[in-house]
Amino acid sequence: MEQGKIWLSSPHMGGTEQKFVNEAFDANWVAPLGPNVTGFELDIESYLSDSKNEVNDVHVAALSSGTAALHLALILLGVEPGDEVLCQSMTFAASANPIMYLGAIPVFVDSERDTLNLCPVYLEKAIEDRISKGKKPKAIIAVHLYGMPYKIDDIQKVAEKFEIPIVEDSAEALGSSYKGRKCGTFGTIGILSFNGNKIITTSGGGALIAKEKSVKNKAVFLATQARDDAPHYQHSEIGYNYRLSNISAGIGRGQMEVLDEHVDLRRAMNQFYQDIFLNIEGVTVFSEPNDDYFCNNWLTIISVDEKVTGKSREEFRLYMEGLNIECRPLWKPMHLQPVFKNMPFYGNGIAEELFETGLCLPSGSNLTGDDRKRLSVGINGFFSAQN
Ligand SMILES: *Cc1c(COP(=O)(O)O)cnc(C)c1O
Repeated sequence: MEQGKIWLSSPHMGGTEQKFVNEAFDANWVAPLGPNVTGFELDIESYLSDSKNEVNDVHVAALSSGTAALHLALILLGVEPGDEVLCQSMTFAASANPIMYLGAIPVFVDSERDTLNLCPVYLEKAIEDRISKGKKPKAIIAVHLYGMPYKIDDIQKVAEKFEIPIVEDSAEALGSSYKGRKCGTFGTIGILSFNGNKIITTSGGGALIAKEKSVKNKAVFLATQARDDAPHYQHSEIGYNYRLSNISAGIGRGQMEVLDEHVDLRRAMNQFYQDIFLNIEGVTVFSEPNDDYFCNNWLTIISVDEKVTGKSREEFRLYMEGLNIECRPLWKPMHLQPVFKNMPFYGNGIAEELFETGLCLPSGSNLTGDDRKRLSVGINGFFSAQN
């Protein structure tokens, strides 16, 4: 009998989402503004605020996607055609595409092995080299891949040294933190995603996180067609249609109620894999480098050392696919993508090696005991079989 597919990460409703959606229908707030949009923004603001860590100024604009949030972040930081923007190479294309929307040039930087994220050493080298060639980069896009915080102190130090703002791509890291402070609050501007596969979903959506109310207001202005204050439609700037729907925001309000619970469940999935792979030589489960890091474990990642296991990452992936279990290679680095092949890159092959040996495993907060049994039978079956 064909068993149901085990997905990498699928939507997981908490239960109250429909109540908020129904409220929107009852009040006829079926529009890209309304009480759910405002309520969802407040929920995220209070989730990210933390007076203990002096994070008091958090201003959130709910938007139609994480990609839209990145696009607006770059506009707000003044990125213009011909400017250069540094970007972590190993990431989802949506981190880099908005640089192209603006006619700017992405300069890709390698990862380091501890967090898989932006390497501070190559970041500094890249900045120095770009400056020596006559151009100081306008912004740095740093990503918390798979929910793991990047080396925040080190990256911030480099950014401050050269006075370049950071766009903190926290699309995968809602619920993660570094030294007790929530991801999304570190960059000059932060962004979140609520796409269907993310830690919480609005069926599609995103947010921009600003440290000043005025920056949030400017983001909302640009996201609603940049309408000047006039009785007629008047525009002094180019605008966008990037606001979040009040229906989607209702789903988001319900999801915020279960966010921490879902983080716990994803962390439990990570522990489940740590336990299984403890006994399988040659496979490493990525985990937090030290206690400064708290990862939401959006996806659990392994790397397969073929020299030890005698079997490749790809053979394992195909074997699991045969069992109707979805596993996926890590994000293919941007400097290896055909569409970005002519863009500058600074690095030393780390992202490339991680891409070749790494695999994402099913990590959803809604995986059942039966799913776990199938996963463990699949993993043990593959790695214990004789060559
Ligand atoms: C999902 C994702 C985005 C884009 O978010 P959307 O809401 O899908 O537009 C950006 N960056 C990273 C790292 C992502 O994983």
